Amino acid sequence: MNDLKAKLNDVRTRISVASQKAGRNPDSVSLVAVSKQHDANSIRSLFIAGQKHFGENYVQEALKKQQQLADLGIVWHFIGPLQSNKTREVAEHFDWVQSVDKEKTLLRLSSQRPEKLPPLNICLQVNIDDEPQKSGVPVDAVHDLARLANELPGLKLRGLMAIPSVSAEGQTDIDSFYRMKQLFELLRQDMELDTLSMGMSADLEPAIAAGTTMVRIGTDLFGARN
Ligand SMILES: *Cc1c(COP(=O)(O)O)cnc(C)c1O
Repeated sequence: MNDLKAKLNDVRTRISVASQKAGRNPDSVSLVAVSKQHDANSIRSLFIAGQKHFGENYVQEALKKQQQLADLGIVWHFIGPLQSNKTREVAEHFDWVQSVDKEKTLLRLSSQRPEKLPPLNICLQVNIDDEPQKSGVPVDAVHDLARLANELPGLKLRGLMAIPSVSAEGQTDIDSFYRMKQLFELLRQDMELDTLSMGMSADLEPAIAAGTTMVRIGTDLFGARN
């Protein structure tokens, strides 16, 4: 518990310092704690320490933890690859989906979102460096998909998400963050968006310098995964 609280404080400090360096208000950067492979008890501790938004990558694993944590007011983000046969569970049990990259997925999520819930918050995942092994919409297809997402009644398009390419030495391609920011601002001339989700444990500082509004942090909060 104390360890998690200390790590949360460390990450928040990093966000503040990086924001100030970039001349930004630290409140303009929100934090999603990525809890994949970490158990419900750790999530509970971090929630009690003040963290409200959590991100999960695997549907079955997430549903189990959501049941164990149903007494808390957690805001759940789905951030992993999403297969068609899992969209219903995601539409019913999450508040956000950040990893949508197909028209079919948008249509299913919208029609499967229960009417008693508010529209599902959506970020389109962009394959900003055109990496063949990575999910994400190609840059030149983002506008059309965003227009569709913006019109679907069960969804609320909030913005874009990306995981930039990383060199063999483990260095993030910082330029990708700036290209994402440009793409985001271009889209915002057409529609109302407020979320640019980029930056993880190893690269939250350059992401903040480039203009991210949401960082997704796993390792530096919960420790290493298997
Ligand atoms: C696992 C994951 C993260 C967190 O990565 P860390 O390096 O552990 O901070 C963020 N975003 C996505 C999409 C992930 O899959």
